[in-house]
Amino acid sequence: MPPVEEWDTFPFDGDMRPRELRPPEPEPKRHGEGGVDCGRCAAPDSEYAWTDDNWRLYSLKPPNGLPLVMLMESREHYSAPGDLPDELAADQGLQLARIERAISELDGIGRVHVCRWGDGGEHLHWWFMARPEGFPQLLGNFAAIWDDILPPVPEEIWNQNVQIVVDRLNAAA
Ligand SMILES: [Zn+2]
Repeated sequence: MPPVEEWDTFPFDGDMRPRELRPPEPEPKRHGEGGVDCGRCAAPDSEYAWTDDNWRLYSLKPPNGLPLVMLMESREHYSAPGDLPDELAADQGLQLARIERAISELDGIGRVHVCRWGDGGEHLHWWFMARPEGFPQLLGNFAAIWDDILPPVPEEIWNQNVQIVVDRLNAAA
């Protein structure tokens, strides 16, 4: 094991060992490649907490252990930030800032991690992971793992948090 198991933020205890790394393989296909059969393109606005002309903000639902996890998706099908036309890329920066601000101002939030992974679905999506303040074990990128470990946030609290964020975004627009 690397010394990661000594980190205060490592979520697991006990005997562990890294999995063996397999030889190189072809890259797996991603969901919705090229916009074909893309579930995010097909989803109606009603599935989203907030939308505008360019972006749609999706809220995951409990069971999540973090106080709020949201995804910002481009309205049109793009694969990566580098694929956006300049005007849309500039607007993306504005919306990332507004959403990060709106979530970070919720009560009891220590940090909002803004992350982009793209290995599952191709449709461009940004993660916003709010971690609670006052729990040093939850610092850093293991927060994404802790989200599956912590007891789920009550749905009522989750929905209140979503509504506050939406109200703030509407006020900022
Ligand atoms: Zn799509």
